[in-house]
Amino acid sequence: MTRETIGFLGTGLMGSRMAGRLLDAGHPLVVWNRSREKTEPLVSRGARRADSPREVGEAAEVTISMLLDEDALRAILEGEDGLLAALGPGRTHVDMSTIGAEASRAAAERIEKTGAGFLDCPVLGSIGPAEKGELILFVGGRDEVVDRCDGILSILGAKRVRAGAAGQANGLKIVANMMLARMVEALGEALSLGMGQGIPADTIHEMLQAGALASPMWDRKDKILAGEPPLHFPIAHMCKDLRLVSESANRSSLRLPAHDAVQGLFEEADRAGHGSMDYSWLARWILEQNGALDD
Ligand code: NAP
Repeated sequence: MTRETIGFLGTGLMGSRMAGRLLDAGHPLVVWNRSREKTEPLVSRGARRADSPREVGEAAEVTISMLLDEDALRAILEGEDGLLAALGPGRTHVDMSTIGAEASRAAAERIEKTGAGFLDCPVLGSIGPAEKGELILFVGGRDEVVDRCDGILSILGAKRVRAGAAGQANGLKIVANMMLARMVEALGEALSLGMGQGIPADTIHEMLQAGALASPMWDRKDKILAGEPPLHFPIAHMCKDLRLVSESANRSSLRLPAHDAVQGLFEEADRAGHGSMDYSWLARWILEQNGALDD
């Protein structure tokens, strides 16, 4: 069966793996990344490199972006060589970046004005799930566009959560990241409190996994204690997402005091020079500050 060509913009930590899945599934791929060298591994596996976002859009009816933030999405859309110049009726763009609901709705408006379809489709899960096609996808947009893209999205994630209109999926995604940040911070405090009383870390872990508290998050304990959390999702990017939570809460006059405290800790860790570490490093940082690792 001949598979359709897909355009992919943004081949960073996540995008490179997701684009690799599409290649493995047999889709011809046209790729673009701001730093050209990050497309090399995909080109060596058969992808074609485009010289601009516009060229990607001209080569494929369906394009996907996986970019850092709102500014990055705006940068690839705009200008003579931007993606918008290539979009129109019959084309569909799926943005999978985490950019917040407002920015996503604004992008949807600009893209749909060209006659093209748009989905916002941020993801839950990191590099491992991205490589295996096991991401959880939050999908926002019109039903006909969702149907058009479902086969392609199924290669990236078996579980797809229909979130509503364009932008809603980004709204859901920041709820998820607020929780992940909260949990990793709680793990740092739980281990500090338990180990501070002389309880072995393994016993604390066993207790956490025993009942209603159970979560795969607690299995990060060994890597955190060994000081080797993998680089999957950097603290600096978590700070970006926690700022999106605050902005959204402020717009709706919500009071989220525990979020404010956890965001403050992530920002402090970033300022202290840990921004490039995986976000689970925050738990280690809390343990260090509490002297729980001193022996
Ligand atoms: P990353 O490795 O830093 O990649 C970011 C991508 O955005 C790169 O391709 C980068 O290009 C591009 N970019 C940044 N600023 C740009 C600009 N002004 N113009 C054009 N391109 C720009 O980040 P990632 O981990 O792949 O994350 C991508 C998105 O997925 C983020 O929104 C993140 O929050 C979200 N996410 C990440 C994870 C995770 O575990 N890592 C999990 C779920 C969701 P360059 O290569 O040129 O810098």
